[in-house]
Amino acid sequence: MIGAAFERHGMSARNAALVAAVVAAAERDGAASHGLMRMDGYIATLKSGWVDGAADPVVTQPAPAIVAVDARNGFAQVALAAVRDVAAATTRQQGLAAVCIHDSHHFAALWPDVEPFAELGLIALTVVNARSRVVVWGGRKKTLGTNPMAFACPCSDGPPIVWDQASSQRAQGEVLKARLAGRSVPEGIGIDAAGNPSTDPAAILDGGALLPFGGHKGAGIAFMVEVLAAAMTGGRFGFEDESAKFPGAQTSRAGQFLLLIDPARGPGGDVPGRIASLVAMLRDAGAERLPGDARHHRRVRAARDGIEVEDVAYAKLRALAEG
Ligand code: NDP
Repeated sequence: MIGAAFERHGMSARNAALVAAVVAAAERDGAASHGLMRMDGYIATLKSGWVDGAADPVVTQPAPAIVAVDARNGFAQVALAAVRDVAAATTRQQGLAAVCIHDSHHFAALWPDVEPFAELGLIALTVVNARSRVVVWGGRKKTLGTNPMAFACPCSDGPPIVWDQASSQRAQGEVLKARLAGRSVPEGIGIDAAGNPSTDPAAILDGGALLPFGGHKGAGIAFMVEVLAAAMTGGRFGFEDESAKFPGAQTSRAGQFLLLIDPARGPGGDVPGRIASLVAMLRDAGAERLPGDARHHRRVRAARDGIEVEDVAYAKLRALAEG
């Protein structure tokens, strides 16, 4: 039904299926901020004409270990699907591959982008830049995006280890969730339009800004993401965003960078086995929850019991799909 909603609003059948898969995966894994909650944003963006729902990405290889994708103003998941096989094959041949995607819209969580590579035995790191929402290094206005990053690596005695996070103190989706629920957010997450600390999601989202995680350290990472995902790929910086010209548009027309490494080609020997021993040590030291654990538990539960969707969200989805 998610794919049908996308197709009804101008996406090609192939592209609709690819984007629907990540929305459904987010619901399955209980990553609510990037599941059905995002449907209105996707549809509003499609209706605004800001994104091309039928885009056909073009893949080129400008250097032996660099694969480039022109996403043609489409969704990043479509570009990722177009490049996945050539990226994995290049990584096996060269030992590593840098995948540079430009002119793409990423409105989802990043773990679905890296997890499949780790399931193939590869190490994967990805970063995505986005329109300005974060104020950095004591600046007065928002300049960089929430610029998320995700990392996945194979582990010999379990599923891949995957972490995935924004470089802002909180992902914008979490602040949106708080606004929808009528909740305030904790202190230290954002500022209002006058630059004062605020716990009001509306003040942060409308005219205010988010703060980077870890102060200057997170700001440095957000800067790095902008360099890799925009400068390196030939994409737009967050501050070059023009979505305001398309009322209703909620995505960023930006870029994505992936670094893939084949551990079997490096000097480390049995890397997945070494990762397993590192993980065992961390758990033994009291780390009860590693990144990805909570999602995996919810994934197992969904496979057993199904995915629970609230009546309101289901009715809304049905209306989007059937009119
Ligand atoms: P969180 O702070 O919720 O989580 C960050 C990471 O830490 C996850 O890997 C999570 O694992 C792990 N984690 C969380 N709590 C714990 C804990 N107590 N112990 C151990 N590990 C923990 O993520 P963010 O709010 O920063 O980002 C949320 C999502 O928003 C991400 O998926 C990100 O990709 C997405 N996003 C997308 C953007 C875009 O432009 N497309 C922009 C910004 C963010 P687990 O997954 O298992 O909870």
